[in-house]
Amino acid sequence: MPYSCAKCNKQIEKQQRYEHQGKLFCEDCYIDILSPPKACDPWAVHSAQTFLKGKDKLAALTPLQLKLVNYLRQKGEATLEELIENLNLTEEELRREFAVLRHMEILRATKKGDKIFYILFYS
Ligand SMILES: [Zn+2]
Repeated sequence: MPYSCAKCNKQIEKQQRYEHQGKLFCEDCYIDILSPPKACDPWAVHSAQTFLKGKDKLAALTPLQLKLVNYLRQKGEATLEELIENLNLTEEELRREFAVLRHMEILRATKKGDKIFYILFYS
């Protein structure tokens, strides 16, 4: 069964299908959709687009990013302070990695009371 892009209607090869919110897109449109707002860290944007060229989200992560993701997988959630302490990262590094992982829809932040927790995107 042929697939076409939900945005530009172009036919998409099986290997070039990208799914976003239940719809299929070609690579160009997918990158377009995921293009973050202008205020975003350009480094994060670059990394998010680099990942799109890979097939597997997690395979594209740096060891540092994997460490962060794996920690949150185990714990479920963690505050910035907890992550800094346990992963031996500076706040700046952590915020930068988080921005990348947020773009990839791997992690997100949630507010509980007056604290911000980092959690897995689909949790
Ligand atoms: Zn398209």
